[in-house]
Amino acid sequence: RPDILGIEDLKVHYPVRQGFGFRRGLLKAVDGVNLDLKAGECLGLVGESGCGKSTLAQSILGLVPASGGRIVLDGQDVSGASSHSDRLDRARIVQMVFQDPFASLNPRHTVGQSLGGPLKLHGIGNASEREDRVAEMLRKVGLRPDAAKRYPHEFSGGQRQRICIARALIVEPKLVVCDEPVSALDVSIRAQIINLLLELKNELGVALLMISHDLGVVEHMCDRIAVMYLGRIVEQGRWDEIFTAPAHPYTRSLIASIPDPMNPASGSIRLQGEIPSALDPPPGCAFNPRCSQAIAACRAGTVPEFSALSPTHHARCHLLQGL
Ligand code: SF4
Ligand code: MG
Repeated sequence: RPDILGIEDLKVHYPVRQGFGFRRGLLKAVDGVNLDLKAGECLGLVGESGCGKSTLAQSILGLVPASGGRIVLDGQDVSGASSHSDRLDRARIVQMVFQDPFASLNPRHTVGQSLGGPLKLHGIGNASEREDRVAEMLRKVGLRPDAAKRYPHEFSGGQRQRICIARALIVEPKLVVCDEPVSALDVSIRAQIINLLLELKNELGVALLMISHDLGVVEHMCDRIAVMYLGRIVEQGRWDEIFTAPAHPYTRSLIASIPDPMNPASGSIRLQGEIPSALDPPPGCAFNPRCSQAIAACRAGTVPEFSALSPTHHARCHLLQGL
């Protein structure tokens, strides 16, 4: 299968001023990320909030400029692209589903207008063809076609997220980036939305980048998982490798903190401390202040390089070096 997304050494750095003294610094939200995604594949990108996942997503969509590196979408290098027509071209290939379905739909537009808008923008079909396409897409996401005449406030949170998914898929993109697509929804309907995404992925062959702070959300749907910490990928592998043989202490703590409904004691293992500021990352391995296995090299040394645990499984940790 061809690559639909290739990210090489991507950097998104922001100059920032902090505090009353206007201390200046460089916020390295994304700092040297490599990722690839094949057509029809589902990649999970996990990490706590503040680790750079959303910034990475926005740079794939062209919503924030990269400071360095390359983004290749469907064979085209889009790194330098920023004009209106570049963005329009990119939107045919990649679409996004956001966390908050309440905020991402225009309350004054009917659902039909919200879904028909992207078709019109890309010059797809005439008015009646667009109407048919909207009705078909609503059916695919489990809503009745007459939903097109109604307004977002008439729907529940889960239904609104279905509408947002329909809007993302209506232009037949090759990749959909979902940034925390269920974390604003009731726990009781999260599984429905995850299953819907999975069904649509299989039916339409669209690739998914599933971003979540919760490894449990990506566990049952992703082919591969990448774990991000303070702007860097720290572990990457097939989902079974990540869940059966997690190699990085950070990945292990994320797995330990997944709540298990059958075991009330689970999920109680919380990560100690907070994610540090990307403005002032700890030297050495950025995870060292929170890592129970840290050795002297972790604090003093350089950032650990990737070690290969299998051809598909890689992790960055000093304890793995020389394996
Ligand atoms: Fe922990 Fe050191 Fe490995 Fe970082 S490199 S995860 S601090 S053991
Ligand atoms: Mg985020």
